[in-house]
Amino acid sequence: MMRELAITSLRSGGVITNLYCSSACKHCLYASSPKWNKDYISPGMAETIINKILDLGCTFIHIGGGEPMLNLSGLKQFLQIASAMKLGIEYIETNSSWYKDEDSAVRVLQDLQGLDVDTLLISISPFHNEYIPFHKVKGLMKACHAGNMGVFPWISDFIQDIEGFSDVSPHSLAEYEASYGDDYLKNVAERFPLNFRGRALLTYKDIYPKRSVDEILAEGKRGCGELANTSHFHIDLFGNYIPGLCSGLSIHVEDLGGPLEFDKYRFLLTLYNQGIAGLLEIAQQEYGFQPEEQYLSKCHLCFAIRRFLVMDKKVRSDDLKPVPYYRWV
Ligand code: SF4
Repeated sequence: MMRELAITSLRSGGVITNLYCSSACKHCLYASSPKWNKDYISPGMAETIINKILDLGCTFIHIGGGEPMLNLSGLKQFLQIASAMKLGIEYIETNSSWYKDEDSAVRVLQDLQGLDVDTLLISISPFHNEYIPFHKVKGLMKACHAGNMGVFPWISDFIQDIEGFSDVSPHSLAEYEASYGDDYLKNVAERFPLNFRGRALLTYKDIYPKRSVDEILAEGKRGCGELANTSHFHIDLFGNYIPGLCSGLSIHVEDLGGPLEFDKYRFLLTLYNQGIAGLLEIAQQEYGFQPEEQYLSKCHLCFAIRRFLVMDKKVRSDDLKPVPYYRWV
């Protein structure tokens, strides 16, 4: 007997306006990178998503990506729609790559302030510094202070590490390890509330000890209750609500609010009811999936199965989206 899954209220979350990015951070939950198509959220999809978010009780969101500021006219259009529909904006996330100089940045900030934005979350981490020279981050923070835009530095604890290098160019994680020790990535994970899904899985899979499939299955017999967690949700530009922040899984935004149909969301509902054991059984029996001996976690095995289904077996299903996620992770 399958338990129903229905997302009937939303508490706090964000809208992903685009998945292309100027960075390809090695911890990115959504596998953003310059390789994605330059798709940006359309006005029609913005209205559909905002309607549903408001219907389900959430009145403020943040905006994330990808890098949302890479298409300023698209971003402003989204903000105009949100403002007209009375959806508040808590902050916009940015990696600062678009920063050129203080005057032009202040002009952009003024435009955003005119559209009811009063805070930028500015990404600060060694992962971002592999792509973004730190002088851009410092320049943007200075422009925010000059233009009375609030700054939410995420995470300021890393500033000292990053300032150990020149700020005119990016610096690889290998440089960080050479300067701060071989266990630097472990150290970063302890200071950064990393979600070990998406690209973080691949970055950390050889850093932390792996466990046998049997051990993972023994722990993962119960369904994945995470999929019903709405305390911090994301919805992308294609209308994919990402259940439990399990990137690569999707519930279409139009299907939020009521019970999901099994035929449409078979993989997702199997995970919700039977956990990773249920998904593995389908993958082995119906698609010939052969697991490796060990994985980092149930989410690592889940990702491996889903990537096999989407990329190797060309399975196209409403709950395994967006497809390019599996290509660019
Ligand atoms: S095993 Fe899959 S569905 Fe379950 S929490 Fe991990 S990523 Fe999400």
